[in-house]
Amino acid sequence: MSAAAVEYEPVIGLEIHVQLATRTKMFCGCELSFGDPPNTHTCPVCLGLPGSLPVANARAVHFGLMIGMALGCELAPRSIFHRKNYFYPDLPKGYQISQYDEPLCSGGHLGDVRIHRVHLEEDAAKLVHVGASGRIHGSDASIVDFNRGGTPLAEIVTEPDLRSGEQAREWLTLLRTTLRQLGVSDVNMEEGSLRCDANISVRPVGTQALGVKTELKNMNSFRFIERGIRAEVSRQQKLLGEGGQVVQETLHFDPASERITSLRSKEEAHDYRYFPEPDLLPVAIEQAMLEEARAAMPELPAARAQRLEQEVGLSSDSAHQLAFRADLGDYFEAALSAKVDPAPPAQALANWVAGDLVGRLGGDDGEGAGGGAGGDPNHSRVQASALAALVGLVSAKRISVGAGRQVLDRLVAEGGDPLAIVQSEGLEAMDGGEDLSAIVAAALTANADAAERVRGGNAKAIGPIIGHVMRETKGRADGGEVTRLVNEQLGL
Ligand code: ADP
Ligand code: ZN
Ligand code: MG
Repeated sequence: MSAAAVEYEPVIGLEIHVQLATRTKMFCGCELSFGDPPNTHTCPVCLGLPGSLPVANARAVHFGLMIGMALGCELAPRSIFHRKNYFYPDLPKGYQISQYDEPLCSGGHLGDVRIHRVHLEEDAAKLVHVGASGRIHGSDASIVDFNRGGTPLAEIVTEPDLRSGEQAREWLTLLRTTLRQLGVSDVNMEEGSLRCDANISVRPVGTQALGVKTELKNMNSFRFIERGIRAEVSRQQKLLGEGGQVVQETLHFDPASERITSLRSKEEAHDYRYFPEPDLLPVAIEQAMLEEARAAMPELPAARAQRLEQEVGLSSDSAHQLAFRADLGDYFEAALSAKVDPAPPAQALANWVAGDLVGRLGGDDGEGAGGGAGGDPNHSRVQASALAALVGLVSAKRISVGAGRQVLDRLVAEGGDPLAIVQSEGLEAMDGGEDLSAIVAAALTANADAAERVRGGNAKAIGPIIGHVMRETKGRADGGEVTRLVNEQLGL
């Protein structure tokens, strides 16, 4: 790259579709039914049969208001539904009922990302592509399951305030936690109850005008979204750097190959011919509905982070880590309130939850939580009270950190009581008495070179000596105590 090369910064806006966890569909009385046999939850309204009439689901409006409140939106006293016309086999009416220029919620923000709007609409049915044999393979034929058709959706549209794929992933994690706390959705990406499109452009650093954007469609995990955004940003930066131009189009990111392919260009974009839905009344928000929504609001992640920091005394980082992943926050609070003796200090407990425990459970962002168990300690074998007891023992120096980690390995594998494991495995900390002194002396003899370097002032050379002691003591020795003894015996 030449010295004069322009640097381009990414600009990203997200559109998130959230299936609302109502009992029935958006405009009819059919029950929501993820996983039921196909086409068993349908009626004339959601099949789009002539003469049927939609009625808006009051519970979906209630959830929409809760989302608007959580995101600090302005709630429209009156909003209306529009018909969004396009042809597709999963859309029996030939249009989707959505909101257009008068959405339920406008403006607002979550963290440092501004919200453009939140509106209500209905989901399409589901196409399944099958081979000639009828097996789900290839695409010789497509069959359609109308169970999903008409499921209530909230569409959340951000302003283009995000600047990287990583920031997008982190922000989506916060949004998902917020929605889960609200109880308005299962927010499960694998089951499609949370879906996200990313709009991406780049612009010369220091300029304000927006560049031409592309849209990455329907990525089904936060990791893929992060990687897809990163790949598309590089593609655009490279293109512009070579004197090319970005064209507005809809793209698909294949996480396996990291390849980006075009789904349709601007010319092929739909003209939706929006017009007001004549079969539905405007949504008029009454005072009682606002009060009901307000009364149903739980503690949200930002408020929880503040409470964990100010009242529980956690570091700001820990407080946010636990609050922005409600599964961790809930587990931590359960552990903190467990009656164990010695009681663990809150910060140490937070560190063990977010570090050692989550690290051992696999899955570092709780993506499967809500559906699967990925990384959620509440679904692990480690009881919150057991972790509290373990951290209490470590903090009181009844066992070493290394021994604590061994006990945690056992708890993760088979559950149980930490103190019982400590006793049966003989993991109690060694005091700094005769035994440990002798082992340290032997370690110095066995690692004479390292000992010489430590004596010469190279503190880092102590590694092999500590390692030797830990091996001999099966990790029971306290690291700080070993270092003290080494220095003492070397006359430092
Ligand atoms: P469209 O009319 O193509 O749907 P909108 O203006 O409705 O575009 O915006 C859709 C989403 O795209 C929003 O999240 C918005 O923040 C984002 N967006 C709009 N323009 C840009 C741009 N130039 N670069 C990145 N994101 C953008
Ligand atoms: Zn129906
Ligand atoms: Mg738009």
